[in-house]
Amino acid sequence: MADADIVVVGAGLAGLVAAAEAADAGRSVVLVEQEGERSLGGQAFWSLGGLFLVDSPEQRRMGIRDSRELAWQDWLGSAQFDREEDRWPRAWAEAYLDFAAGEKRAWLRAMGHRIFPLVGWAERGDGRAEGHGNSVPRFHITWGTGPGVVAPFERRVRAHAEAGRIRFAFRHRVDDLIVEDGAATGVRGQVLEPDDAERGRPTSRVAAGDFELRAQAVIVTSGGIGGNHDLVRKAWPARLGEPPRTMVAGVPAYVDGRMLGIAEAAGARVINPDRMWHYVEGLRNWDPIWDNHGIRILPGPSSLWLDATGARLPAPCFPGFDTLSTLRHLRGTGYDYSWFVLTQKIIEKEFALSGSEQNPDLTGKDVKLVLSRVKSGAPGPVEAFKRHGADFVVADSLTELVAGMNKLADPDAPELAEPALRALIEARDREISNAFTKDAQLTAIRGARNYRGDRLSRVAAPHKLLDPKAGPLIAVRLHILSRKTLGGLESDLDGRCLRADGSPLPGLYAAGEVNGFGGGGMMGYNALEGTFLGGCLFSGRVAGRAAAQAVA
Ligand SMILES: Cc1cc2nc3c(=O)[nH]c(=O)nc-3n(C[C@H](O)[C@H](O)[C@H](O)COP(=O)(O)OP(=O)(O)OC[C@H]3O[C@@H](n4cnc5c(N)ncnc54)[C@H](O)[C@@H]3O)c2cc1C
Repeated sequence: MADADIVVVGAGLAGLVAAAEAADAGRSVVLVEQEGERSLGGQAFWSLGGLFLVDSPEQRRMGIRDSRELAWQDWLGSAQFDREEDRWPRAWAEAYLDFAAGEKRAWLRAMGHRIFPLVGWAERGDGRAEGHGNSVPRFHITWGTGPGVVAPFERRVRAHAEAGRIRFAFRHRVDDLIVEDGAATGVRGQVLEPDDAERGRPTSRVAAGDFELRAQAVIVTSGGIGGNHDLVRKAWPARLGEPPRTMVAGVPAYVDGRMLGIAEAAGARVINPDRMWHYVEGLRNWDPIWDNHGIRILPGPSSLWLDATGARLPAPCFPGFDTLSTLRHLRGTGYDYSWFVLTQKIIEKEFALSGSEQNPDLTGKDVKLVLSRVKSGAPGPVEAFKRHGADFVVADSLTELVAGMNKLADPDAPELAEPALRALIEARDREISNAFTKDAQLTAIRGARNYRGDRLSRVAAPHKLLDPKAGPLIAVRLHILSRKTLGGLESDLDGRCLRADGSPLPGLYAAGEVNGFGGGGMMGYNALEGTFLGGCLFSGRVAGRAAAQAVA
């Protein structure tokens, strides 16, 4: 006998959306989650809540002219689809873009979701109109950050739970998909012992019993592999160089990637496992929630970026421009870390930290605190990192700064030499007073300040790094931070998982990060940012609705 019409595996954002949509259509759902109730919402709770929208009222108000056509040009330039397996990912990309340029904002707004009016410019690109990156600012931060994205769906799911249409099965870890007569008919696994750890902290994996749940359809929404660095290293593509020996974790441990192998063993096909999205501006969290917890700096464009040997990174590897090109470049240096060199003036305006807990003003919807961002002084969480973070050097002179950097450097890295760094900085600084600079980074900084949003809150007025009035000098040691999985379970436009021969595996659906956010990798090789949460919303909605219709 069936326990429900539909089993959803994973109570992150994609799972919540899929469950809510299926229950709206009148289906009964069991939402199975290996963590406790406190973790409802998964990674999305911790996220900044940045959403990719095209031609929004927020963009128009800021004087940004966007269009579906321009966004599609950017998407194709970033995705660089080049494989036979890209058939469904590409179809998903088109469908998602229609959503982001169409219904997405109004659909969310009707559920009470609101957007912060300053639109951010993430992934500014590789310098080519036809290449990677956003031609215009498109990163819309949710008022209330990640929790503000989760809230409407949690509300809907809890209302259905009260009405008896959705049942939660927390601390239930799926170890196996049940496939009978070629169709998915349920899940089995272990009930994990109770653990009342705080949200995000690692929990016990000790089993207290077994379970089995039967249904007409199973939707897998179990997230990516970013919390399992062994899997990340195994899938690491040669085009990005050697996998790093050390990384910080940008996601909690439950982002363990196990369900990918489990679904594959049940007959579903995983495509594009070598496509991934990791950041190069990771900090060790001085106040960690999960093990090896890393925080990503969302950098403005002005910091000078040096590799571990002290060499300046080439274009387009400027802060916030081209994540994977920079990762590839840095892997070629033989070291797992790099440096930002900047001033107090830059940190105050240009350092934002990704994550809901690092942005109490936006997360708490505190208007007064948000307004204090335009005042002098770095935001509280950034100042706390500067004071307590193990990766920061703050100094009144370059001599002192270089000494501090050498203390933080790896023992096998060459000692950084002050004269070389001074020459580099002085060359850069000399061009500050030159309106005709040939320094591509300075040109980019000046270009960014043409945008009101950047001038107001993201890009410091160009100044000499060695100007004592802009000081003190700051150096930040940056780590590679694991985050997103761009490939995953292949699916058609109904979210149905496909087998190796391209036919649907009856009863099995996927959505969210485990699904490469749609199709098995709708972002291709690169992401335009804000497309991860958006991908969970769209693919969760598609899979929830399609499964509900199929089991009617
Ligand atoms: C700090 C941070 C900031 C971010 N900022 C942004 C942003 O601004 N914009 C953006 O677009 N994206 C952002 N992201 C990325 C985005 O939040 C995630 O990619 C997205 O939320 C993934 O959602 P999901 O539902 O697919 O998976 P998850 O949130 O990982 O949820 C999957 C759930 O499945 C459960 N599960 C896994 N395996 C099993 C199993 N075998 N049995 C039972 N349960 C299982 C897990 O415990 C987990 O709860 C950010 C992420 C982080 C961590």
